[in-house]
Amino acid sequence: MAVDTIFSKIVRGEIPADIVYQDDLVTAFRDINAQAPTHILVVPNHVVPGADDVTERDEAVLGRLFRVATAVARAEGIGQSGYRLIVNCGADGGQEVPHLHMHVLGGRPLGRMLPG
Ligand code: 5GP
Repeated sequence: MAVDTIFSKIVRGEIPADIVYQDDLVTAFRDINAQAPTHILVVPNHVVPGADDVTERDEAVLGRLFRVATAVARAEGIGQSGYRLIVNCGADGGQEVPHLHMHVLGGRPLGRMLPG
């Protein structure tokens, strides 16, 4: 049986989310706990647990994921003001959901990359 995650359920429409874009490879939806005026997650439709699990098979989906993340940023009106793309990986990286995702954050100055 394939691994399932909360993001898989969002991709399949089984739990509600504010989906801003979806195609055959990726889905983009607003983070439930936004850290900035724009905070959108872009995920592969199939489960890749994390960045460390990416294989050659995922190259097309990761290219799409990057292109959708930047298109979503432009659609949100932050293409010119700037934004941050984040992929957390593993425990020290602060990854909470074991389904690879790219955060698209912007709409205000985001400050230093890391606190301190
Ligand atoms: P991570 O820390 O794994 O990089 O980020 C996980 C993100 O997923 C967090 O920003 C969290 O707010 C978001 N998140 C967790 N559960 C849900 C959910 O059920 N719906 C939505 N829209 N976002 C979620």
